[in-house]
Amino acid sequence: MAYQVTSLSRLAEQFARLPNVGRKTAQRYAFYVLSQPPEFARAFAEALLDSSGSIKRCSVCQNLSDEPVCSICQNQARARSIICVVADPRYVIAFERLREYNGLYHVLHGLISPMEGVGPEQLTVKELLSRLTGEVKEVVMATNPTVEGEATAMYLSRLIKPMGLKVSRLAYGLPAGGNLEYADDITLCRALEGRNEM
Ligand code: ZN
Repeated sequence: MAYQVTSLSRLAEQFARLPNVGRKTAQRYAFYVLSQPPEFARAFAEALLDSSGSIKRCSVCQNLSDEPVCSICQNQARARSIICVVADPRYVIAFERLREYNGLYHVLHGLISPMEGVGPEQLTVKELLSRLTGEVKEVVMATNPTVEGEATAMYLSRLIKPMGLKVSRLAYGLPAGGNLEYADDITLCRALEGRNEM
C-alpha cells in the first residue's frame, strides 16, 4: 500500500505545479488518473512528452510552432507589409479568432518590466528588428494597455520609427455601457488618442 500512496502524492505534486490548480484539485486529478486503466496514463504521458519535445519557436515570428517556420509565416496569402507585435502566443490566438487581420505577427514572450527585472534583451526585440527590412511598412503595437504594455510599445516605437516605418497602437476603446467617469487614466487616454472621425 505504501507504494500506492507514494505515487499518488508524487503525481499530485506535479499537478499542483500547474496554474490555478490547488492542492485539493491536484489530489483529485492524481486520484482520478490512478483509478483509470494504464492506457489513460500512458496516453497522457506521451502527449506531455511529445509537446515539450516538438513545440519550438518559429524562427521568424517567435510564435510557438511545430515547424521551424510557423504556418502563419509560411502562408503566402498573408500581407508581409504589416507586423502585429504581441506579448505572448495567447494574443496571436485571440487575433486569429477574429479573422480580421491578414498580416504577420511578432511574439515578444513578455513585456519590459523594470519591477520584475525584465529588460528588452530578455524579449525577442533583436529578432523583431532584424525582420524590418524592405517589405515591412507598418508595425502595430498590440500590447495590453497596462504600464508594462505601454512602456514596451513606447520603447519599440522609439527604435522603429527612425527606420522610416509606420508604428501604430491599438485604439483601446471604453467598455460598452461603461461610464467615462469610472474609466482609468490609461483607458481614457487611449480612447481619446484612438478617436475616429464621425
Ligand atoms: Zn512564424
